[in-house]
Amino acid sequence: MLLYNTATRHKDEFTPQNPEQVTMYCCGPTVYNYAHIGNLRTYIFEDLLSRTIRLKYSLKHVMNVTDVGHLVSDADDGEDKMELGAAREGKSAWDIAKFYEDKFWKDYDALHCTRPTIISRATAHIPEMIALVKTLEEKGYTYRTSDGIYYDTSKFDRYDALVGHARIQGLQGGARVEMSDEKRNPTDFALWKFSPKDKKRQMEWDSPWGVGFPGWHIECSAMAMKYLGATLDIHCGGIDHVTIHHTNEIAQSESATGKKYVNYWVHGEFLILRSGKMSKSGGTFVTVDTLREKGYEPLAYRYLCLTAHYRTQLEFSYESLDSAAKSLKNLRQLAWQAKMQTPGMALVSENVQTWNDKLTAAMEDDLNAPRALALTWEALRSETLTPAEKLSFVHFADSILALDLLQAPVAQAPLQLPGQVQQLLDQRAQARQNKDWKTSDVLRDQIAALGYVVKDTPQGQQIEKK
Ligand code: AMP
Ligand code: ZN
Repeated sequence: MLLYNTATRHKDEFTPQNPEQVTMYCCGPTVYNYAHIGNLRTYIFEDLLSRTIRLKYSLKHVMNVTDVGHLVSDADDGEDKMELGAAREGKSAWDIAKFYEDKFWKDYDALHCTRPTIISRATAHIPEMIALVKTLEEKGYTYRTSDGIYYDTSKFDRYDALVGHARIQGLQGGARVEMSDEKRNPTDFALWKFSPKDKKRQMEWDSPWGVGFPGWHIECSAMAMKYLGATLDIHCGGIDHVTIHHTNEIAQSESATGKKYVNYWVHGEFLILRSGKMSKSGGTFVTVDTLREKGYEPLAYRYLCLTAHYRTQLEFSYESLDSAAKSLKNLRQLAWQAKMQTPGMALVSENVQTWNDKLTAAMEDDLNAPRALALTWEALRSETLTPAEKLSFVHFADSILALDLLQAPVAQAPLQLPGQVQQLLDQRAQARQNKDWKTSDVLRDQIAALGYVVKDTPQGQQIEKK
């Protein structure tokens, strides 16, 4: 399998440390608000990776839930997103975390993303985070300011490894992170933040340095290494995490263990809107529920995500979602036809194996989902595969695409016609029986004026709404 590795900047052959079990960590949600469909695009790409790995290996997949410690700004000042959510909704920070986490998993399941092997909540791993900060302190990587314990990035000479020197230089120019008086370097970051002296936080813990809460970056390192060891095969996340979050994870983990933290860094590109970023205030915050309210099934969105490679930006629009929903319906139709034409599924014949291999090769080429989709269309339209073979292939394809391809087509509810339209339709049937084509045409126009279209088919008149 080839995977594009952000650290090497090319597609690398994937070789796990232990072929018995691949280890993968994915940055999970910060549960202070609903996940938007941009966030969920990242989980869909990670699911494609997980399903592709599982074709050949067993996989230990860990995902965190950030239920404390993610600050609203990268400058290590500003409020913790959880406490902010609590203040906004007049609930406790713990209630906020529970509510949005439950909602997150519902959306995640609706998009057919495979649940991780281990879900780790930050608030349940405070001792592990404190232990990691202590190790960093003992090794001389930390310093204390009035608001917390900080990591000194100047002590780690590979700090720019993931992003490249130029981008870190840009950061030092102060473009992204404001330099606080007490920070030694603009890129330094909080490992442990003290609770404010004048305010009691809802989420805070004792530590060797004083009451407070962990920084966001330390959470991921502590939980990833607890469950997966010092070196992980794969670490995933959205592209926005490269410069700061993942760069910091590498620095603190490698400083603590002296070992390479991650062999393959895999990042998904963003979902964007024509109008720019998805934001709650701008009314452009689209969730799975928004899609449902507009009449789309969540899997139409999964289909849309599969039409673009995970390393290219995808622009969201309702027109593209419409066409994804239509394509999904038509693909299911083809799969259903194959199913209806055969009493059972063919065993994996040589023919089927060839198609299965083609689809596997597409996915193993840096997760080429658009190609895998195209192959599925091609196979279902092919004249060289029998219906039973098609059915067998669809089962395999859907174990990766996860689009419910064998769902029975939804029977169309009979159209409820207004009485006047029904009357005109009956008169028209009579006129046609009498071969009175003139009257028939007049009646067709009258029906059209009421918003309905009549077609004449060998089965008789068919009517639908305009
Ligand atoms: P958060 O809950 O904000 O920590 O984000 C969860 C995941 O969604 C992270 O892996 C982010 O990198 C990713 N993410 C955030 N915004 C987008 C977006 N517009 N498109 C794709 N992924 C995103
Ligand atoms: Zn993370």
